Amino acid sequence: MKYKEVKAVCCRCNKKLQLKDAISYLPSMTKVDGIDLICDKCIEKETADWQIKSASFYFMNTLPFVDVVLASGQVYPGLTFKSVGDCCYADAIDDISPESFKRQLLIEWKKYAKSGVMNELESISFTEDFKNLYFTAKTKGGKEYYDVEFFIDRKGQFQIHNSVVMNETTKQYIIAAWNDYLKNN
Ligand SMILES: [Zn+2]
Repeated sequence: MKYKEVKAVCCRCNKKLQLKDAISYLPSMTKVDGIDLICDKCIEKETADWQIKSASFYFMNTLPFVDVVLASGQVYPGLTFKSVGDCCYADAIDDISPESFKRQLLIEWKKYAKSGVMNELESISFTEDFKNLYFTAKTKGGKEYYDVEFFIDRKGQFQIHNSVVMNETTKQYIIAAWNDYLKNN
């Protein structure tokens, strides 16, 4: 058996670590011994730097993206991400972002999802063809509805033909848009 040793210095600030019951380390990709020790101050600084100042979510082709601005001023635009457990992993910065960031990103994502913004309309247009009415709509969440037939029933209620699966909030926005359309045409 061969003894291995690790220098008791922080891999970030190179300061000597105070040895205590437990010390933190980063799994190292480059070091043979496989670990990089890190001091509490550097963890604190990193956590503070990676505090999310703003996270703007949007969709492209129904895929979610996020633009992140950190407390440090660092900007990471157009990140793809996935949520697993209680973290949200932003692909391009997964290796360098601390867990505190990943947890916060999930909280931001949940807030966004709960706000229902993704069900709002990005665009809508109506077409009339003889007695038939159609709408073409796209939600901010990237869902597209193309030439969906609808009608107004005897009670004046907006009804969608076929078995179109649609979020109720989205439907309410479409009804509001139709009422606007009637006023202006
Ligand atoms: Zn340090």
